[in-house]
Amino acid sequence: TDPIHIIGGGMAGSEAAWQAAEAGARVVLHEMRPVRGTEAHQTDGLAELVCSNSFRSDDHETNAVGLLHEEMRRAGSIIMAKAAIARVPAGGALAVDREVFSQAVTAALEAHPRIEIVREEMAGLPPEDWDSVIIATGPLTSPALAEAVHGLTGEGELAFFDAIAPILHADSIDMDVAWKQSRYDKGDTQEDKAAYINCPMDRDQYEGFIDALIAAPKTEFKDWEKYTPYFDGCLPVEVMAERGRETLRHGPMKPRGLTNAHKPDEKPYAVVQLRQDNALGTLFNMVGFQTKMKYGAQTDVFRLIPGLENASFARLGGIHRNTFLNSPRLLDPVMRLKARPSLRFAGQITGVEGYVESAAMGLLAGRFAAAERLGQPVSAPPPDTALGALLAHITTGHVPGRKGAFQPMNVNFGLFPPMDAPSRGPDGERLRGAAKTQAKKRLMTARALAACDEWLGVTAQAAE
Ligand code: FAD
Repeated sequence: TDPIHIIGGGMAGSEAAWQAAEAGARVVLHEMRPVRGTEAHQTDGLAELVCSNSFRSDDHETNAVGLLHEEMRRAGSIIMAKAAIARVPAGGALAVDREVFSQAVTAALEAHPRIEIVREEMAGLPPEDWDSVIIATGPLTSPALAEAVHGLTGEGELAFFDAIAPILHADSIDMDVAWKQSRYDKGDTQEDKAAYINCPMDRDQYEGFIDALIAAPKTEFKDWEKYTPYFDGCLPVEVMAERGRETLRHGPMKPRGLTNAHKPDEKPYAVVQLRQDNALGTLFNMVGFQTKMKYGAQTDVFRLIPGLENASFARLGGIHRNTFLNSPRLLDPVMRLKARPSLRFAGQITGVEGYVESAAMGLLAGRFAAAERLGQPVSAPPPDTALGALLAHITTGHVPGRKGAFQPMNVNFGLFPPMDAPSRGPDGERLRGAAKTQAKKRLMTARALAACDEWLGVTAQAAE
């Protein structure tokens, strides 16, 4: 049979190649390094970690990425297997020696009888007669391929830079201070009229906030980022503050058309608006708050905003080169390009973020492509697993009717179907605050692992 062609031997491409080959398909993996490099990669090894050496928390009972680790292990992930042998001490986190890790993945793929590795750049769309291709070329996809994909997907469907505002968990917002209202109560339905969460500031609070924004430490631009022009629509919030103390009050923080439901007689001096970010309504983003502030500074400064004192962030802001598709519009439920189903996408280019998440999407793409090639049913993981929650984010994860809303994401509990928190612990004790949140996470991860085992069992049976 013809092979599955995988473009890009990073986190996603390596995992996809392994999964497809283990399932019984032949694979040709095309990796451009060392023929052509990227701005961030340093070696010619497969699955090179370009920055941190951490796969983050390994706690699969109360942490979403730890849960993803565990699901991937159960699915026979090469990335997780080699992370285990390259592990270095890092407390509750899973961190690796990046050289040992990359060399181990490279050696395993090179030794696999059904995998051939070709060192070449795919400098345009793959040949039409390759009927099964996985594009896993990552955030730094080579410009020639990015242009070709752009031509196929159409204007505005492929992002090259990612200007991101922080996203926070809805249940960490203090609704005794904040209130729901769209500016000028705009909207046809009651839901639309109350679509935004608003956080009010008086004059002193606003002045203090501007001081904090200006004083906060910022991330320096890397050389290759210096040439990134700011687009008017995504000027970092601290750059706006530096341009003039009133700029934000006339921009994203303008108070016009908003009445504080808790204090109708007091006109707010400025307002921070939060907009629903996922279909479930568990996540909200800070409108117009894309930022280059350092991570620690972001949480300190944003918790000065009334109502956000205890905010828990699902993702912090930033601006960097990031090639990613408007996946919810472009991809079908098993990650194929609707416009050309012989092309599948995997990894960060599909709009997930992070090493583990990218590898996870490679794991799914490799399995889907192999099942298709071998004439077996293609079965997607259920949405209450971490794998399924991420897949749902990239295939359906936009708020209907909102243009350009799709933004890359790390895995987090906000992407899972909600569950009620238990009110009592195992010994009948009443649960409150953090203990209650932890108990809810334990329920969600137990539900996820049971669903994952069932999915893997069904998939294995179908392959026999
Ligand atoms: P990659 O791992 O980048 O793999 C893509 C591969 O495709 C590369 O090997 C590349 O050489 C190859 N390629 C590209 N174009 C072509 C082509 N046309 N033909 C053939 N091969 C091609 N995530 C974290 O979890 N922690 C971090 O600290 C972190 N830091 C980051 C820092 C930077 C500067 C960047 C850009 C990203 C960072 N990320 C981090 C995100 C992380 O890179 C990705 O999540 C992860 O590596 C993406 O996996 P991937 O397989 O999609 O892409």
